[in-house]
Amino acid sequence: MKVSPDFSRCVLASSNLGKLREVAGILGALGIEIIAQSELAIEGADETGSTFIENALLKARHAASLAGLPAIADDSGLVVDALDGRPGVRSARYAGAGASDSQNIEKLLEELHDVPSDQRQASFHCAAVLVWPDDAFEPIIVQEKWCGVILREPRGKQGFGYDPVFFDPGIGKSAAEMTSAEKNAASHRGKALRRLVRNLQHMTAA
Ligand code: IMP
Repeated sequence: MKVSPDFSRCVLASSNLGKLREVAGILGALGIEIIAQSELAIEGADETGSTFIENALLKARHAASLAGLPAIADDSGLVVDALDGRPGVRSARYAGAGASDSQNIEKLLEELHDVPSDQRQASFHCAAVLVWPDDAFEPIIVQEKWCGVILREPRGKQGFGYDPVFFDPGIGKSAAEMTSAEKNAASHRGKALRRLVRNLQHMTAA
């Protein structure tokens, strides 16, 4: 008899409140119940990987083994062309360990001070993974990105992280000026999570 993986209830391996809200909103709308790892007193794993996928797998495996539930993790960051891809996997701690969003933005804007408008391209990247306890099934791994440019000063109050300085020319707004529905439709995380769920649905239908 074939056993189908059950992913109706998953632990989310993140302690970032902004991210938690976004992920729970996107996956909740797709019928998946999300439990934050903090609700199970699980602390975040150290992000020692050198790629978004390595870090997402580290976080998810840690949470799945402690929770005994399937775990979803996303590892994401901002890749700026004029900075040779920085801050990349170090986006959360760009201005130092424990840096606030505004300190990270300040450092980014300083570094891009002399970079002209036509050379300020950047992209948000997201690796989203789902792993099962004891690796009972193959992990699902997807990656998506969102292209835009870095503004000269922050705009908007929504979102988190670098949202106020990330501008999507197609939409004509910074990510922090978008409603959550607008951001989720365009964003690296929204696209990655929807693809993750499509892959899960194919896996259970197969
Ligand atoms: P991590 O995935 O927990 O390592 O953190 C990724 C970091 O990248 C966040 O703390 C933010 O600084 C940045 N980041 C990732 N996704 C977004 C986003 O959607 N908006 C703004 N900043 C983001």
